[in-house]
Amino acid sequence: LGVLLAGALCVSPAFEQVRQGADPATQAQSTATVVQREALSSRRAFELVRSLCDEAGPRPAGSTGDHAAVLWALRTMGELGLTNVHPEKVEVTRWERGEERAEIVSPVGQHLVVAALGGSVGTPPRGVEGDVVEVGSVEELEHLDPAAVKGKIVFVDAPMRRARDASGYEEVVRVRYEGPRVAAKLGGIAFLLRSLGTDHDRIAHTGGKSKDEHEIPSAALSVPDAEMLHRIVAEKRTARVRITLGAHMLQAPAESANVVGDVPGRERPDEVIVIGAHLDSWDLGVGAVDDGAGVAIALETARVLAALPQRPRRTVRVVLFANEERGLSGARAYARAHANEAATFVAATEADFGGDAVYAVRWLGDAGNAAARERFVALARLLAPLGVARGDDDASAGGDVGQLQELGVPILELRQDGTRYFDVHHSANDTVDKIDPPTLARAAAAFATAVWAAAEADGDFGRVPAEKRKVQ
Ligand SMILES: [Zn+2]
Repeated sequence: LGVLLAGALCVSPAFEQVRQGADPATQAQSTATVVQREALSSRRAFELVRSLCDEAGPRPAGSTGDHAAVLWALRTMGELGLTNVHPEKVEVTRWERGEERAEIVSPVGQHLVVAALGGSVGTPPRGVEGDVVEVGSVEELEHLDPAAVKGKIVFVDAPMRRARDASGYEEVVRVRYEGPRVAAKLGGIAFLLRSLGTDHDRIAHTGGKSKDEHEIPSAALSVPDAEMLHRIVAEKRTARVRITLGAHMLQAPAESANVVGDVPGRERPDEVIVIGAHLDSWDLGVGAVDDGAGVAIALETARVLAALPQRPRRTVRVVLFANEERGLSGARAYARAHANEAATFVAATEADFGGDAVYAVRWLGDAGNAAARERFVALARLLAPLGVARGDDDASAGGDVGQLQELGVPILELRQDGTRYFDVHHSANDTVDKIDPPTLARAAAAFATAVWAAAEADGDFGRVPAEKRKVQ
């Protein structure tokens, strides 16, 4: 890598050509190199994660940390040279974890590390106790006789596969999202799952669940505790568990905000490239990886582009979304409020997959439009010096900019290496020390290059065809 980058960063001859009026492709290449050099040589992205997490702390929607993060974002955008910096209010519901504990009461007393799922109801103060019925998947649970589930604590033990992309998570996320509803329907009194994590630390990974008519207390077990419970059940001994959750919704809705700031375009300020990330986090850690890293990537992209000798042709807009984790209410509010401007959004991208390097770029737009496709190919070419491969025409948006995709806004997807991501995702271990500053700088360099190229392109990427707009 060192050699590759060193080669790419010898820019002075290319720069001379820019001044002498080189052809557009050469000009683009040399500006991309300047963008990359600036991002790679800066520790700013890491400093942004550090200051967000140290100054605001955990940021569940509507909490004091969330409010501190909104103020932090407004102030930081101003300091980085963005303009039109403002909050856009979002109403959010508030959920609090309270105290939580769990134990195996028989055949032998054992402490269990648990974390309630976001939105879960609590138990009575003395907890709920029951025999455990274990299955390996939601599908298996759906086929159980209600008589086998009624009055029991349902435990789904579905190990998660480590992968570079999100495929390992996608295979099992239904357990967390839908398992509680299925267990409740069958008469279960509580729901436990093996944490959706690739680590073996004694920490539990929380996360959202579906909102159900009939709610039962629902929590994740740490992987070592899930494996212990599985061994005990596998030996055909009855396992009896007690679980006590203080989780509850707060009655009054609270206010949060999307925080928005622009690098105004020099020629077509009314045409916009959106780069999004989410400001909220789960409560257990400080959300450095999810999504402090994405916030830093988005802000660093804007900082680098605002500082260029010549700002990009179109406006680059950073949107730091409220409440991604508990229902995308910030992104939904943004898409609703700006639906009539959707035609002016030329492309959108999102950083919500940690702080590791980008390895591929994909797009979703009008792939049948040869000129649009060639613009993507040219954009991807600029990312090659960073080790980013050109992917296909079927990008998937993150949850937040997915709301813009539904309005037809083309998507640029920068795929980050997620091999380590799910070791800490949604857990107490999501802390600042998990971010490697040079690696985060590389990720920011890739996003900044792609966003610059989209903002500078001589034309657009078409619109997402109607049949591809719906995000599942
Ligand atoms: Zn996230």
